[in-house]
Amino acid sequence: NNQIDQESLNAYEFLTMFYHHLLVHANGAEEAKQYLEKRGLTEDVIKKFKIGFSPYQSDVTTTLLEKKSFRLNHLAHTGVLSETEDGKVLDRFRGRVVFPIRNHLGKTVGFGGRTITDEDPKYLNSPESKLFQKGNILYNFDYARSEMKKLNQAVLFEGYMDVITADQYGITNGVASLGTALTDHQAQLLKRYVDEVIVCYDGDKAGIEAAFKAAERLKKSGIGVRVASIPEGDDPDGYLKKNGREAFVHQILGQSATYMSFVLNYLKRQYDTSIEASRMQYIEVAIRYIATLVKPIERDHYVRELANEYDLSVDTILGEVESKRQQHT
Ligand code: ATP
Ligand code: MN
Ligand code: MN
Ligand code: MN
Repeated sequence: NNQIDQESLNAYEFLTMFYHHLLVHANGAEEAKQYLEKRGLTEDVIKKFKIGFSPYQSDVTTTLLEKKSFRLNHLAHTGVLSETEDGKVLDRFRGRVVFPIRNHLGKTVGFGGRTITDEDPKYLNSPESKLFQKGNILYNFDYARSEMKKLNQAVLFEGYMDVITADQYGITNGVASLGTALTDHQAQLLKRYVDEVIVCYDGDKAGIEAAFKAAERLKKSGIGVRVASIPEGDDPDGYLKKNGREAFVHQILGQSATYMSFVLNYLKRQYDTSIEASRMQYIEVAIRYIATLVKPIERDHYVRELANEYDLSVDTILGEVESKRQQHT
């Protein structure tokens, strides 16, 4: 049963327009509209990304779908709608701001819904389904594709609010994975269009850890990687709104670290380098990473940096690096 479920696709398309229309025109959506306004989103970007609002009362959605001849049970089965234990079919996004998630063809295949009243969870996503496989989709890939190709570069964000805000500020080569770690499939997708990805995740512990994993995955796929660093506690969305485009382009993207200097920095923080044994462990790990660099001139650069930092002999470290390389070939 590999057939595309046309009814679910149609329902996603229908709901995209319904939620969006509701946000823009309905009286009941004032709160949601104010919420987005407060977050600084313009009408243009709301329109471009078809951001919507799902009515507080679930049966507004379900009644309308029925009237349009959709089968509620089918849509509950495929995950477009949700279902309670006693079989009541619901709109899982009720009362939330809704972000349509488009596949590479520009078709909505799922939604992300954000609470506007601090409910838990903050974000709710459509469940995995045949149509919606989170590991195969990059948010905004369809829109970003031409700019990615033109610049030969993509910016990888953590969340869709980051992608949308970046777009509003004219950074239109941004994509995001969907609340999960970047997959191989997603890295391959990027590789088809760009030689370089700037990883630009949130400036908290979780974001830095996720950036490390994403950077490694991209590197393994053969893509050039840089890693931007957002000030502690902020994220690209917040940074852009506070500091504007110029600062983001120059201070954040422009000052992004090379893959290796990010990795070494990240690893160093896991060790207490004031203790000799721990410092030696770090140096071992650093050597292992430096040895993975393909270009001799790059290996040389980081070897010198490491040697300088800990007052070691360049030749000794370089020897270690080269012997690690022998082991791998
Ligand atoms: P906002 O600015 O609206 O608070 P954000 O994009 O900064 O949102 P984060 O908390 O940084 O949100 O999360 C980043 C991404 O992780 C989100 O865009 C979403 O895709 C995903 N995510 C966050 N919380 C959840 C959750 N509870 N369930 C599923 N996915 C989530
Ligand atoms: Mn975060
Ligand atoms: Mn965030
Ligand atoms: Mn945010």
